[in-house]
Amino acid sequence: MVFDARSSPNVAALRESATIAVSARAAALRAQGRPIIDLGAGEPDFPTPGYVIGAAHRALDHGATRYTQVSGIAPLREAIASRAAGRYRGEGTITADDVVVSTGSKQALFNACFALFGPGDQVLIPTPAWTSYYEMVSLARAVPVPVFGAVERSLKVTRQALVDAATRETRGLVINSPSNPTGAVYDREELTAIVECAREEGWWVVSDEIYRSIVYEGLAPSVLDVAASREGLVVVDGVAKAFAMTGWRIGWSIAPPDVARAMTALQSHTTSNATTLAQHAALAALTNPGAEADSRRAMVSEFRRRRDAALSLLRGARATVIEPAGAFYLYIRVGTATADTPDPGTIFAERLLEDSHVAVVPGAAFRTPEWIRVSFAAPERDVLEGVGRIIELLASHTTHPRGSLPLS
Ligand code: PLP
Repeated sequence: MVFDARSSPNVAALRESATIAVSARAAALRAQGRPIIDLGAGEPDFPTPGYVIGAAHRALDHGATRYTQVSGIAPLREAIASRAAGRYRGEGTITADDVVVSTGSKQALFNACFALFGPGDQVLIPTPAWTSYYEMVSLARAVPVPVFGAVERSLKVTRQALVDAATRETRGLVINSPSNPTGAVYDREELTAIVECAREEGWWVVSDEIYRSIVYEGLAPSVLDVAASREGLVVVDGVAKAFAMTGWRIGWSIAPPDVARAMTALQSHTTSNATTLAQHAALAALTNPGAEADSRRAMVSEFRRRRDAALSLLRGARATVIEPAGAFYLYIRVGTATADTPDPGTIFAERLLEDSHVAVVPGAAFRTPEWIRVSFAAPERDVLEGVGRIIELLASHTTHPRGSLPLS
């Protein structure tokens, strides 16, 4: 839905989140008594680890009920800064003053886009990408410019593709590795090339690293691992996915000090500090390395089992799927866009929901309408049953590109 003429130009072109729309339709069908398998979810289906919950109880008992500094409590910002500083080898240091704690990484990303980009600016977005980047850049009255990668490279973009898409108005790029929706991970070499290119061109890099600790092959490098300088770099992360803490709403940005100050000022006029209790919970999450490692290992190994089982079904069916090296999504190609059928992914997802009772997110939400996103943050039984029904529908669906190659 695009909002009507009664609303101001601020939101005139704003679209509601497609991922939320899918959940709403799935919930409505469920309310009618239909047994919906929900593979649309964007959050780990695990409880927040017990050591975090315990710390939150203790913080409440100790009166963590008041406002904090807008940018967050000092020990949390220090913990974030010291983890980041531990991996950064470039010029200068990272301190707690560079960190702004926000209400989810979503707010951190919005703060960054709003503080860095404005009217007339163009912002490159390696695509497919999380739906909110395009809207956040547009809310800042800048222009999101999708840049596409090849299927053979798991839809990741190259330095050259970014350069080719750039104009004199290009001010920055928003990169997300591991990626939502593809799970693709930029390796060190690829990330270095992009960060160096941005530096040479004078672009801001906003790096959304929210899925970085959910990886299945090797590690997912941070831009901090490869950058020679922090100038021009804003790193965004949070506890939502890594610690199964989506509802606590704690994320953060690490930015050069002047940008951190601008984002703090912006946040001071919108939401002030992130919820005090949740900040204490996030502090516990980040400062108990043994408990963190144990709970992460359990979660990632469960995701890996589901991923491997689902991939083997899809490969057996010769489906075109991006093999996710991280995050918890399978990106599957379900059709070919034509003038008559510009959005085959949405048609497929609607049929899948209405006839096969499986909810997934159409690729149009990520500006790639030939695909669907399937979350494996659901019980393994549901994931395999849901993927089985997707394969059945692929076999009968007319917009499916026959003879397409399976990817690995
Ligand atoms: N970035 C990406 C790529 C996401 O997929 C999401 C949530 O789905 C977020 C950011 C938002 O995370 P948070 O819950 O920390 O706001």
